[in-house]
Amino acid sequence: MSINELYREVILDHYRAPRHHDHLDNPDAEAQGNNPLCGDEVTVELKFDGDTVADIAAVSAGCSISQASASMMTQALIGRDRKEVDELVHAFKAMMSIEEADSLPIDPERPGAVLGDLEALQGVRKFPVRVKCADLPWATLEQALAGDE
Ligand code: ZN
Repeated sequence: MSINELYREVILDHYRAPRHHDHLDNPDAEAQGNNPLCGDEVTVELKFDGDTVADIAAVSAGCSISQASASMMTQALIGRDRKEVDELVHAFKAMMSIEEADSLPIDPERPGAVLGDLEALQGVRKFPVRVKCADLPWATLEQALAGDE
C-alpha cells in the first residue's frame, strides 16, 4: 500500500466513524463554523479540567476532508493543556501551509511526530479549496478558545 493510499484509508476511517461526534452536556466553550464554499458545518465544544481539555466534541456535517479533520482534531486535543493545544494548532496550520513553519516546535517534514493521524491530511495542502475544508474545525476551535478567555 502506498503512503497516499494509507492516508486515504485513514481519512475515510475517520469520515465513516467520526470520533467525539456527540454534543457535550454543558460545555465550557463552544463555537460554530461553516465553510460556504463546500457546505461544511461544524460545532466544536470543549470541557476543561483546569487548563486541560477534559472532553471535546466536534459535531460535523459536510465533506470527508472537513469531517475527518474534525474527528482527528478531537483525538489530538483531548487531554492536552492550553499550551499544547496552541502548539498543535500551529503545527497543523504549518503542515497545511496556512502559516509559516519556521518558528514552530515541530519539524514540518515530520508532522506525524506531533499530529498523529492528522498527518494524513497533508496531501490536501496541494488543493487550496480543500485546505479550507480541513481548516474549518481548527478555525472553529480557535473561536471557541477565544470566547473562553
Ligand atoms: Zn469540504
